Amino acid sequence: MEPMNETATKDEQDPQTGSERVFAFFRGKVLSGELRTGDRLPAERDLAAQLNVGRPLLRETMRSLAMLGLVDIRHGSGAFVGKADISVLTNFFTFSLAQEQNVSEDIMQARMAIECQAIRLACERATDSDLDRIGGCLTALINTLSDPEKGGMADFRFHAAIVQASHSQALITLYKAISELLMQNHVERRQVTHKTPKVIDDLVESHRQVFLSIVEGDGDAADHRLREHFAIGDELRRKSIIAAFSSGGMAE
Ligand SMILES: [Zn+2]
Repeated sequence: MEPMNETATKDEQDPQTGSERVFAFFRGKVLSGELRTGDRLPAERDLAAQLNVGRPLLRETMRSLAMLGLVDIRHGSGAFVGKADISVLTNFFTFSLAQEQNVSEDIMQARMAIECQAIRLACERATDSDLDRIGGCLTALINTLSDPEKGGMADFRFHAAIVQASHSQALITLYKAISELLMQNHVERRQVTHKTPKVIDDLVESHRQVFLSIVEGDGDAADHRLREHFAIGDELRRKSIIAAFSSGGMAE
C-alpha cells in the first residue's frame, strides 16, 4: 500500500529520463523537418501517452523549451514550434565563457576562425547593399576614433557587417552567440589604444585595406589582410601599453 505514489507514473520518479525523452522527441522532429516553426505540437494528452511521461512532467519540460524560445505556448490553443531565440545562446556563451581565464585571448581565436571564413564568402557573395553597409560602418569607425566606447562599438559593427555579408546563417549565428563578449573586447582594447595618434592612423588604414579587398572580391587577399589586421591590433595594443608606461610616470 503506497497511497502517496498512486498518482505518480513511473517516469515522474525518474524525471530526467522523462524530460530527456521529451527533448529528444522534439529535437528529432525538428531536425527531420517533420516539425517546422509555427507547427502545432500534438495535444498534451496524446504526447504524454506517446512518450510515456506524466502530464505534469510534460508541462514542465514544455515550459523549459518555451524559456529557450523553442516552443510557443498559447493558452487555450496548445503548443507550437517557436523560432529559436539567439539571445539565449548569447547569454549562454557570455555566462559560460566569462568565467574562463584569458577569455579575451580565447575569444580572439574564435573571432579569427569565424571572420576569416566569413570574409572569403563575403568576397563571393556580398551584394551592393552589403558593401554599402560595411562602408557605412567604416565611416562610423573613422568618426568615433576619439571615443573608446563608441569607437569600440563601431569597430565591432564593421566586423559584424562583414560576417553578415558572408550570407552564411551558421557563421552569422555563431558570431551573434559571442557578440556580447566581442563588444566588450572591442571597447576594452580601444580604451588602451585610443590616445596614441600613430595607433589611430594605423587602425583606420588597416580597416580600409580590409574593406577594399572585399570590394575587389579577392578572397585570398581579404583573408590575408584580415589576419594582418588582427596581428596589427595585437601589436598596437602592445605599443600603447609601452607608450603609457614610458610617459606616464611609471618609473621606479
Ligand atoms: Zn577592427
